[in-house]
Amino acid sequence: MADLQTDIRAIRGIGETRAKSLAKLGITTLQDLLSYFPRGYEDRTLTRPIKELLLGENACVKAMIAADPTAHRIRGGKTLVRARAVDSSGSLDLVFFNQEYRKNSLHRGETYIFYGKVEGNLLRRQMVNPLIEQEGQQQITGRIMPIYHLTAGVSQLILSRAVQQGLAACSDLLEDVLPDEVRQQHHLCYVNYAFENIHFPSSPEALETARRRLVFEELFLLTYGLQRLRQRRQDVSGPVCHAVDMAPFYEKLSFTLTGAQQRAVGDALGDMCHDRPMNRLCQGDVGSGKTMVAAACVWFAAQNGYQSALMAPTEILARQHYQGLSPLFAKFGLRCALLTGSTRAKERREILAGLADGTIDFCIGTHALLTEDVHYARLGLVITDEQHRFGVEQRAALGHKGVHPHVLVLSATPIPRTLALIIYGDLDVSIIDELPPGRQKVDTFAVNESYRLRVNNFIRKQVAAGYQVFIVCPLVGDGEEVPDERKAVTAYARKLQEEVFPDLRVSLLHGKMKPKEKDAVMTSFVNRESDILVSTTVIEVGVDVPNANTMVVENAERFGLSQLHQLRGRVGRGSAKSYCILFSDHPSEETRQRLQVMVKTNDGFKISEEDLRLRGPGDFFGQRQHGLPAMKVADLSCDMRLLDEAQTAAKQLLAEDPELRAPGHQPLRRKINALFTQNEASLN
Ligand code: ADP
Ligand code: MG
Repeated sequence: MADLQTDIRAIRGIGETRAKSLAKLGITTLQDLLSYFPRGYEDRTLTRPIKELLLGENACVKAMIAADPTAHRIRGGKTLVRARAVDSSGSLDLVFFNQEYRKNSLHRGETYIFYGKVEGNLLRRQMVNPLIEQEGQQQITGRIMPIYHLTAGVSQLILSRAVQQGLAACSDLLEDVLPDEVRQQHHLCYVNYAFENIHFPSSPEALETARRRLVFEELFLLTYGLQRLRQRRQDVSGPVCHAVDMAPFYEKLSFTLTGAQQRAVGDALGDMCHDRPMNRLCQGDVGSGKTMVAAACVWFAAQNGYQSALMAPTEILARQHYQGLSPLFAKFGLRCALLTGSTRAKERREILAGLADGTIDFCIGTHALLTEDVHYARLGLVITDEQHRFGVEQRAALGHKGVHPHVLVLSATPIPRTLALIIYGDLDVSIIDELPPGRQKVDTFAVNESYRLRVNNFIRKQVAAGYQVFIVCPLVGDGEEVPDERKAVTAYARKLQEEVFPDLRVSLLHGKMKPKEKDAVMTSFVNRESDILVSTTVIEVGVDVPNANTMVVENAERFGLSQLHQLRGRVGRGSAKSYCILFSDHPSEETRQRLQVMVKTNDGFKISEEDLRLRGPGDFFGQRQHGLPAMKVADLSCDMRLLDEAQTAAKQLLAEDPELRAPGHQPLRRKINALFTQNEASLN
């Protein structure tokens, strides 16, 4: 085979049909196949005496067929073959459904290896449809077998065979991206050994060795790439501010900042007085009052003669920030502007002029703040709200607008420390771990369809009491076809209005609406002109409707935990007792567990840790959101020590050969460039 990018159909035994199924798992090339790591393993190395078998366990048994197998017809025209096998410790009944050939392929007096789940009772042990191999010809017993995540049309056996063949086909092609000296210093195995043993470990120790190497490699590549990006951003000086009495600002607020808010403001203002630009992450749960922290910084920058920009992920949110903040700043004679994709041309021209000549002090907007033609006279501070929705690139692009403005990042997705360490290694962090007074816990229920009527009555009761209700419907499509968001949610809202709540006012918001339409719907909901707002996830981030006290989420299993937590954060913002009802008919244990996390805790940090544990960091911080390579093997909740080691190694290499010129570093250089290309342009 030519190289790792070779199509998997080049492997014997993989034809069109199988290739199609494998494609569903994201496997199209040899490289994909080899990097499709097992999710677990089954130890089939030990054969156990029959007498010692425990009911319910999977086990290997070496036993002799004691009598000729018998075949019986059973219901539905099926066949049942029975046999009995014995070893020196006891006997085991074997049952085969619809495997008539077993009658003639198992021979009395011969010894086989059987692998399967032990059933029966204490007196009679039995295996149903066990795997069978002959001693000395074992391929799927007598060893540690990989267990992969599967999809329709691909079984464990098919996948492991494919991987086996893939490994055989390309053992010469695997390139060691880790430089020799790094591998030796950190006692890491060669790449071939690692790939062979991550799939087919020759022993538990070999598996550990393989995994260690692959995790190290992954973390090394990530930290190396990030450190290189950072190195290129250092040594610039930012807009230096001077201390200013903040009392006039605080006096104009209708509330006192919480202690945590004050600390965060103090951290940020301190940073802004240094000549290195601030690079701070302000983390706080939904509703913890991050906007005011940002506003204090904006006011401070303005007192120092600097402009600020605040970037929000959606138009609705930008608008809400604008509506909330511009009256406050107007009290100080400071001019705010709102710049989004739907700002009309004439107004836009005026805003651009105001930003360029410095008459606008504070600009709030969406990605429109980033477009080429936006120039600032004295941009001193850039704030991104709910930043996990912005890519690294966008942040950097905005950074280029000013000389090197101070950057404050607001995030309601509490990031587990491990992850923050990697992604924001150079970011200072302030945590707002206190909610404004008077907030109550949102009571959360995970229910199935059988609760529908009760929930409908509950909704009616809340509306009768003067509150409003959100109903969120994710896109639900079956299989490949991408569902039509507008159609699905529109139909659902109509049904609710006509059949379920004819007496209430149901309104609708979805992502396909024009910003103006969305805004109109949102505004009318805020003004209590409707009782129930049915929406897709567009309300997820930030929007404030204090009178809404109930959040209903349909098909809750479709959402990640952090997303559900964000959604839930839309209620409980007023003084009323608030509720969150999560509908799901999804039968899996994993779903049940995830939704229970929501029921049990309101703590965003705990939830994000659970999310990380259950879904893995690859999903948690999707590649697309961050432009960072996804983690395949590393488990960031427990590979901390290795992370440390990898980070140190990366630092050392970066110091020794910053441009990766040494011949032995070329594979690494190619790999890093491939992983980080997207970012190169914007972060250089
Ligand atoms: P988030 O951190 O989710 O962005 P917001 O900044 O939107 O939270 O604040 C949520 C609500 O709490 C807003 O209505 C805001 O006016 C209010 N708020 C913020 N700080 C305080 C405070 N210290 N005391 C009382 N209410 C506050
Ligand atoms: Mg917010």
